This record gives sequence, structure tokens and C-alpha cells, in this order.
Amino acid sequence: MYKATIGLEIHFESKTNSKMFCNCPNEENNSLDEAPNINTCPVCMGHPGVLPVINKEAIDKLIKTGLALNCKIAEHTKFDRKNYFYPDLPKGYQISQFDMPICYGGYLDFALDDGSMKRVRITRIHMEEDTAKSYHMDDGATLVDFNRSGVPLMELVTEPDMHTGEEARRFAQELQLLLKCLDVSNADMEKGQMRCEVNISINTEDDDELGTKVEIKNLNSFKTVEKSIEYETKRQAEALNNGEKIIQETRGWHDNKEATFSQRNKEDAYEYRYFPEPDLPPLEITEERVEKIRSGLPELPSDKRKRFKEEYGIDLKTIEFFVYEPELADYFEKTATELRSWADETRETTITDEEYANIIKLCTNYILTDLQSIIKSDEEIKNVDNNFAFLSKRITPENFAEFICLIANNKITSKIAKIVLPEMYSKGKDPSQIIEDNDLMPIADDSELLTIVNTVIENNPKPASDYRGGKQNSIAFLIGQVMAASKGKADPKKAAEVLKRELEK
Ligand SMILES: [Zn+2]
Repeated sequence: MYKATIGLEIHFESKTNSKMFCNCPNEENNSLDEAPNINTCPVCMGHPGVLPVINKEAIDKLIKTGLALNCKIAEHTKFDRKNYFYPDLPKGYQISQFDMPICYGGYLDFALDDGSMKRVRITRIHMEEDTAKSYHMDDGATLVDFNRSGVPLMELVTEPDMHTGEEARRFAQELQLLLKCLDVSNADMEKGQMRCEVNISINTEDDDELGTKVEIKNLNSFKTVEKSIEYETKRQAEALNNGEKIIQETRGWHDNKEATFSQRNKEDAYEYRYFPEPDLPPLEITEERVEKIRSGLPELPSDKRKRFKEEYGIDLKTIEFFVYEPELADYFEKTATELRSWADETRETTITDEEYANIIKLCTNYILTDLQSIIKSDEEIKNVDNNFAFLSKRITPENFAEFICLIANNKITSKIAKIVLPEMYSKGKDPSQIIEDNDLMPIADDSELLTIVNTVIENNPKPASDYRGGKQNSIAFLIGQVMAASKGKADPKKAAEVLKRELEK
């Protein structure tokens, strides 16, 4: 039985205003969509005699990323030249970091699909610059766009701590979530803002020595990270079973064939001739700078999961929803605070923990279902920067809390709630006002309900006599008739009680 050993190398572009070593705008992570070769200057075009200047914002974002990934931060570090020739590299070398990365020795904890936890150690994260983009045209020509040339790029290398495609996929997903939470990168894999490379070797369970390492490049989605590992594990196992040797090589991923293919082997490997970048001074990072960045770290996804479980006792699936929707999570938390005071006020007593837990559950259910679907069908909210601010203007957390309390206290039925919530969203009014304006008050008067019930029995003699004859099911039809006659304002439970009482008379 063979076992795969997997390490990842992940590149992600930094969300800075300008490029790594010049003042050109960084369009990659600022959602600018510019014409080709607009954001260029002599520095990022590699003209002779120009001098690079280190982008402080990019270094700060790397330190922030390292701290969130439990890394140590180097006090003394430097940049190096990585020499190779390619049309998308105007200088003939890339400024990178060879033996002294800024961040090293960290780890990331994450959950697998079955909920079990996994830790992967992080060897290093270093700073470098991105290359230009090549476009291979149908007529055989290749066009180069230098807008991306010199964009700050972080490279993260893990220890070979993973053994399945699922573990590698989940690591990459959790990393992306963290990068977005830190606001250091948009990390969109489809846009190439985050790129994964897999190192994989296989050996038998009892073999201490690792097998020959194969690299898989050009993986542009989480799914292909997982699939390529599964494919490669199988391919290498079959080769070994047939007595073949695994060649150390770089392989690409063919999306349509769902297979890896050989790109180049070890003999063609580049010799990068790294040496210290002579145009940049060594980089010193003070403890003060690191501590300032540490104190500005936001709540990380792992901390949020823990806190949401402890504070609100909500289920894991709902917690995961909020971790991936931080703005709706903010909205939920504001509402939760309001809920406690609303619940206390309307009951004129402090609610118990159990009551609070139930009302929180009702609240999260409404956020995940009804509120979500209202938001999803609104074209306007798609173009706003902050969903939380936008939503709070339409339905304030206070009004949403009142709405939840009205349902919890049986003041409105879930049927009426379905009318009230969209009205609140479109008119920006509080739920009591909506109920009054639209005459949606529930039937409080028992005599009014009794009149409706008797009319329904009178108009439906067949189901009524069926029920009297022992056919219990026909009560459901009659309840439906009462709800319709009351325009949804009757309490279905109460309607059933009164119906039964009247029918059994
Ligand atoms: Zn430039």
C-alpha cells in the first residue's frame, strides 16, 4: 500500500496600492481593469540604470500574514536575484528572497470535511515580485502585458505534512479565507491572484525514505489541487507496481482530460544562480514594527469559530457560514445584542439562557434563509463595498431584532413574517409600522376567530362531516381555509383548537 506525501507552494499577490519596487499602481489587487501596458515605468520595465525602492506596505502585509500563520519574523533579512530568461521577465532576473525569508517556522490549523482537525507546518513565506503576463494568440504570436510586472507577490512553502488531495485542498481554502480576512490579498484563484503548486512523492507505509518528488504546476482551482493529487498518487502507484521508476519532473494539469502531463524533467531544470540584490540594502525589521502590526490583527477565522460557539452556541454549519460571510456575521452580532434587550423589554423579565439560545437560533435561521434570499435577489447590493453597512441602512439590527421577537412571542405568524421582512427591506421601516400600515395584525379577538371558523365550517360541509365521522386528516384542509379567510393573520395553532372545539360540539 502506497502513501502520498504532499507539500504545497502557494503564491499570492499582495493587495497594495503600488508595485513592489516602483510607484506604478498595482491593478491586480485593486480591481482596476486597465488597458495593457499602462501601469509601467522604467523600473518595472527593467531599463538600465534604474533603482528599485522597497514597498513598505507590501512588507507590512507579509509580516501581518506571517503573524496570523504563527510564523517567526526575521529581524535581519535581504533580497536576492533569481536569474532566468523569459519574455515576461524584463530584467532577466526576478527580485526574490533565497536563504533569508521574512517569515519562517509557522503553522495553520484547519478542519477537514469530516470536522476533524489537521495542522500543517509552514516552512517559510517570502517576498518577491510578479512577472508580466503572456498571451499566446491563435496565430502563433505571443503578446506580453507588463501591467503585472513587479506586482508584490508572496510565496508560502509548507512542510510535506499532507497525505491526501482533500488535506491539500482544505489547507488552500483555509489559507484563502485567512488572506481575505486579513485584507492582504484578494486571493482569487481564477484571476491568478493565488496560484498553487503541489510537490508529491509516494512510498510504502513502512518505508522511511520518501519517494521521488514530482511537481504539479498550473492548478487554478481548489478542485484541481485535489484532483491532480488523486490522479498523480494513482499514476505513480501504477508505475511502481509495473516496476517503472518515477522520474523527478514538473507536470502540468490538463483540465479537460483531468490528467497530469510531463512538462520538463530534471535535466532541463533551471540553475537560478541566486545572489544578493546589490541595488537594495539589507532589510531590518524592528520588534516595534512587528508588535504594531500584531496589535492591529483582526479576529482570525479560527478565533471567530471558537467565540461563536461559546457565545451563541450555534451549530458548526451556521458558524462556517458566518466565517465565510463576515459582513453578515457582523450584522448577526449587532442583532444578537439588540435581541437580548428586546426580549427582556417585551417580556418585562430577563430571559433565561435557554430562551436566548432559542431566539438566537430563530434569528440565524432567518438570516440564512429569508434575509439571504432577499439580499441575493437585489441587484443593488451586489455593487456595494460593504454589505453590512448597506443592509443595516435598509433593516437596522434593532428592527431586525424586533421582527425576530414578534415571531418568537407569537405576535406574528411565519406566514405574515414572509410579507413583513421584504417590506422592511424595501421601505426601511420597523416591523410594527409595516404591520399597522398593511393591516397585518394577528387576530387577537377570539370572537373574530370564532366567526371565521364557523363560516368555514358552514361553507365546507363535506370536510366538516368527514372530520366528525372520524376522518382526522380533513382538519388540515379546514385549518388551511381559516388561514386563507383570515389572510394569514390567524394563529394556526389557535385556529386548530377552535375548529376542533366547534366541530366536536
Ligand atoms: Zn513601475
